[in-house]
Amino acid sequence: MLLKKSDITKALEILAADASVFVPGQVADVKRFMLWDGQEVELGGDNTTLPPKDILFPCTEKMYNYKLGKSIEIKEVVDNTKQVIFGIRPCDARSIFLMDKVFFEKGFVDSFYKRKRENTLLFAYGCDTVCRTCFCDSMGLDPNDAPNADVMMHDAGDALVMEAYTEAGKAALEKIGDLLSEGGTAEKTTACELKVNATDDLPEKLGKMFEHPIWDEVTRACLGCATCTYVCPTCYCFDIDSDNHGAEGTKYRCWDSCMFSDYSRMAGGHNPRPTKKERVRNRYMHKLSFFHDRYGEMLCVGCGRCVEKCPAHMDITTFIDKVAEVEI
Ligand code: SF4
Ligand code: SF4
Repeated sequence: MLLKKSDITKALEILAADASVFVPGQVADVKRFMLWDGQEVELGGDNTTLPPKDILFPCTEKMYNYKLGKSIEIKEVVDNTKQVIFGIRPCDARSIFLMDKVFFEKGFVDSFYKRKRENTLLFAYGCDTVCRTCFCDSMGLDPNDAPNADVMMHDAGDALVMEAYTEAGKAALEKIGDLLSEGGTAEKTTACELKVNATDDLPEKLGKMFEHPIWDEVTRACLGCATCTYVCPTCYCFDIDSDNHGAEGTKYRCWDSCMFSDYSRMAGGHNPRPTKKERVRNRYMHKLSFFHDRYGEMLCVGCGRCVEKCPAHMDITTFIDKVAEVEI
């Protein structure tokens, strides 16, 4: 189906009638997702500087309100707002597929994430350009396609080609049906310029390299700032804290980072990851090996944001290439 670009605003108005619609655009010169309120949508060009993961997993999220007294009152904060992420890229859509595993599988369901996820529609947009640091197709993704999206969109000149991938996507397209016309094809030839040698045996090989000297070399530059984890669409660690006011307050969670020295410090002061070597090793191993052991997938979608934003030029792509050269 085809949606004329001049009708995007009308389509968003229809979708926004019963959902919060998030679109890519400029916020203080940073391209990121924001609540649509009639502003211009920047579908094409480079991907957003920040991933849209906070729409499903906010950087700070209220969980419970409580009151202490003769009895204890605990009230879960329930948010059932319907949401649409319009223009999510294939790498970021894939990161949601991976987050679903973390928050739904292995016998544990995170009710806060679940409510948001079940109320969120993904309108993915096939990349029409790639950034210098994009390497998703080396990680098994296709920048032209997001198989777990509800609707897949592609640029076709003065229109968008739209295809529903799920029943929910079909229903969403029916809602805007008056604006759609039949037909339309789009070029799906985008490919990353940066190629990385992520060999099939990478997770297994890394599993045997825990004590390898490579870690002394590749971790030296890290400053421990945690930028890499905050810009990463697949990092999901959080901490839980209280905002306490006398006998009442709120429990909330907020993003945490394994790159901070106190992240793994235990009661009594022992820290099993005392230096940046252990912390960077943990991050790379988690992305490329540990997560694969647990869920059968690598936790890096090749979005390149950590490479682009690291102030110390730490680079997961050169690390992967180095591992490919190691003989064990
Ligand atoms: S790898 Fe780079 S972005 Fe990540 S903590 Fe180290 S210096 Fe910061
Ligand atoms: S590790 Fe880096 S390249 Fe991989 S998904 Fe995270 S931010 Fe993107």
